[in-house]
Amino acid sequence: MATVDPTGEGGWREGDMNDKVKYKNGKGGAEQCHKKYCTVFFDLDHTLWDYESNSCATLAELYDVHDLKRRGVNEVQAFQDQFRLVNNELWDLFDTGKIASDVIRKERFKRILAHFAIVDEKLDRDLSAEYLDLCPRKAQLMPYAIEMLDYLSDRYRLTVITNGFDEIQHLKLAAGNITRYFDHIVTSQKAGHRKPARGIFDYALLQSNTACHEAIMIGDNLITDIGGARGAQIDTVFFNSEQREHEEIIDFEINSLIALKHFL
Ligand SMILES: [Mg+2]
Repeated sequence: MATVDPTGEGGWREGDMNDKVKYKNGKGGAEQCHKKYCTVFFDLDHTLWDYESNSCATLAELYDVHDLKRRGVNEVQAFQDQFRLVNNELWDLFDTGKIASDVIRKERFKRILAHFAIVDEKLDRDLSAEYLDLCPRKAQLMPYAIEMLDYLSDRYRLTVITNGFDEIQHLKLAAGNITRYFDHIVTSQKAGHRKPARGIFDYALLQSNTACHEAIMIGDNLITDIGGARGAQIDTVFFNSEQREHEEIIDFEINSLIALKHFL
């Protein structure tokens, strides 16, 4: 527990596994988080389930199966990079309420193929359907996910709060063999609200019979996970694995899931 913030003054503390925690002023010291919280909320994609690795593996398979090299996509890396670009753009529009979710599915591969000057409706439809079928069945998790779920599930009730479709998100949890850790799986489809809307967090609190000050939300997205939880008066852990710069004031910030052990 070397990194616990002993003075309560905030700032970064380093653990001995290249892990770091940033404490907000007044958090993580005498407050004894493990006594304060009873429920831990987890985001799924990019937080527990390694979306990036699973997506890249799926795209590499599709690249081979559909012989995209012959179609003019010279490198699998270029295909993956373009997917990342288009997908992030579309998800940002979806997260800020500017497009509906089906637009992501309809537009994604059309835009990617257009970038490579390929116009082929059948290929677009096939890639789209096969990506949706294959990707959620991939099993790669973020580093230390299992260790932390083992550790935390002995101490807290655990709930997933995720924007997405019930069926897809359940497939990912099953593929990663982590369904058993959670008392509740709250998807935006089930809750009728999506992060950052307060409704999905209130729904999760109700499901887990938890007051807002007894819960803490762990996620990788500053808008949906962190902003959303803060709006519902829930404490927050920003999982910033790439150590991106930002100006937000967050209760806890970590660069690795293993760092959760220092304060939970
Ligand atoms: Mg996420």
